[in-house]
Amino acid sequence: MKKQKHERTAQVIDGAPLEVNGLYKKYDKKSDYAVKNISFTCKRGEILGILGANGAGKSTTLKCITGMIPLSEGKITIAGYDIEKNPVEAKRRFSFVTDNHTVFQKMTGTQYLSFMADVYGVPTEERQAKYESLEKVFRLGDSVKKLISGYSHGMKQKICMMGSLMHDPELWILDEPMLGLDPRTQNAVISFMRDYVKNGKTILFSSHNLDIVRRICDRTIIIASGEIVTEIDLKNESRDNDEIIDAYYDCEKAENE
Ligand code: ATP
Repeated sequence: MKKQKHERTAQVIDGAPLEVNGLYKKYDKKSDYAVKNISFTCKRGEILGILGANGAGKSTTLKCITGMIPLSEGKITIAGYDIEKNPVEAKRRFSFVTDNHTVFQKMTGTQYLSFMADVYGVPTEERQAKYESLEKVFRLGDSVKKLISGYSHGMKQKICMMGSLMHDPELWILDEPMLGLDPRTQNAVISFMRDYVKNGKTILFSSHNLDIVRRICDRTIIIASGEIVTEIDLKNESRDNDEIIDAYYDCEKAENE
């Protein structure tokens, strides 16, 4: 009998880089929802910002999107793949840089980059060129050969960002990515981001820093008390930062009344 050939081919699904539909999340032992009825779409080639005060619900939204915590209600798809029903295919398509730099302290930077390349199946012959292009942005220098446990906060941030980019994710998700980076690196990262989206990739960027979001994002969603209160194009927004901040804190106050 002729043996049937089994090939593991991923089903190709065409979808927006990210779609969030009716997301609700309530943590155990809490009576209120941390996020309520969050819906938005990230379009290919854009940098979308999520802006909100401390406790507004940014990290909760990102943790749900990336499958780190279960949703209470709603649906999230990444390039068409449902994060809860098809997590492996969804996770192949994005990288997440958290704000707490959970990296493997007992590895050197080089070992960590190689580990990330292994996880995402980056071909061996492509890794050196990839590392060299990222080194031009992040400039870790010889520290890359040293143990991560001895890195400063900013160096840990850099190695996390480099690791997350080894496989050129379609969607790059960042939670407060500029904290701890020196001004030269911030500028280099911003210009890298611009080039990244020009090449058809997408970035979702969360921060409570209005200046940074205004500088970087093409479109911005403002979250207050777990809900989207508005969406604005900060680059073409004529109000100054103080007026915008007042407007979104007013929304937050109204939500809580
Ligand atoms: P920050 O800018 O301070 O990081 P944030 O906008 O990211 O804030 P979240 O961390 O998403 O806000 O928090 C939203 C709400 O959910 C807050 O009321 C917070 O207390 C609550 N929360 C967050 N994590 C947990 C958790 N693990 N267990 C219970 N409640 C949580």
